[in-house]
Amino acid sequence: MTVTSPSRRAASETGDPFLLTPGPLTTSRSVKEAMVHDWGSRDAEFLRINREVLERLPAIANAAATHVTVPVQGSGTFAVEAMLTSLVPPDGEVLLLVNGAYGHRAKRILDIARRRALVHETAEDTPPDLAEVERILVAMPSITHVFAVHCETTSGILNPVAQIGALAAKHGKSFLLDSMSAFGALPLDANAVHADAIAASSNKCIEGVPGLGFVLCRRDVLAKAKGNATTLVLDLHDQWLAFEKTGQYRFTPPIQVIVAFHQALTEFLAEGGQPGRGGRYTANCRLLVDGMRALGFRPLLPDALQAPIIVTFHMPKDPRFVFQRFYDSLKDRGYVIYPGKLTVADSFRIGCIGHLGRAEIEGALAAVREALAEFGMTDAAMAA
Ligand SMILES: *Cc1c(COP(=O)(O)O)cnc(C)c1O
Repeated sequence: MTVTSPSRRAASETGDPFLLTPGPLTTSRSVKEAMVHDWGSRDAEFLRINREVLERLPAIANAAATHVTVPVQGSGTFAVEAMLTSLVPPDGEVLLLVNGAYGHRAKRILDIARRRALVHETAEDTPPDLAEVERILVAMPSITHVFAVHCETTSGILNPVAQIGALAAKHGKSFLLDSMSAFGALPLDANAVHADAIAASSNKCIEGVPGLGFVLCRRDVLAKAKGNATTLVLDLHDQWLAFEKTGQYRFTPPIQVIVAFHQALTEFLAEGGQPGRGGRYTANCRLLVDGMRALGFRPLLPDALQAPIIVTFHMPKDPRFVFQRFYDSLKDRGYVIYPGKLTVADSFRIGCIGHLGRAEIEGALAAVREALAEFGMTDAAMAA
């Protein structure tokens, strides 16, 4: 058993292991340092910072003229639940396009809220069947909304949101999008994809810390959502009215998270916004996939379906390869990866997002090579 000396351990600017995970992820030192202050929730300076955060977000989806940001205290799922339960009325029905855990989670949300939902499910490595989606929309006039996940983080698959949105619009349905792990990294024009609402959070591709979800909502759609909500805290319409009237949250906001998110947005804009951020992640992803392939690992997805967010790799079949030891060995070297979440294949995942670039991906690949050597393997020697 090799003992890793501290000098060989890679570390972030704050001495922490690099998180090659889909959020929470590695943030910059300046984002973390933005949090070392106290503000009251009615503090004018905090409210100004919050207002800037809310104003900056719709522009990322080219939606400043049509959509408003409604923030939701909590993780990303709070924003998805707020979106579904506030915008789908009691007599609505949602067609859910599911190819992973986050699509299934949306179904649970609707079941608990007693909203009717119909699932079109494909395998985790397969995009929705658009011809079948259209057939369902034609056959089922009771459907009022279509829900899709932009990048299904379960596998890392990129779903065809523009085509899905176009189908929803063609058949007069409201399109609701979970863009959690894609927002800010992948190109997204809310109006071009006909999205009435887009849910995302502070701790993914904008590279903030966890604690704030948000929904970009079409103003006219939100205005008609009064009374739909099934809970007090996740009522987007009520939260929006509070901001219109007072500029304040109804309940205690995660102040330090929001101030850090403001700093993360400043750094996002300095990097060139979505094209800059997405460009760095795409380079990370290419380096990672090429490097892992060279070591004998096999990605789940073909390159055309792979979003540059997180990559799923098949578990090597070699009995010498023990995932928990592989994970621990990488962690000892300063890199945290992510277990698999697939039902279709035994797998693990490595993220491309966060405050990481070429040096960190190359470091992670070197760590993978060393971990394999500990198993007496020179490559992942896929038997499959
Ligand atoms: C991260 C994520 C969410 C939200 O998950 P939380 O654990 O609540 O932050 C929702 N959808 C997708 C696609 C995600 O990647």
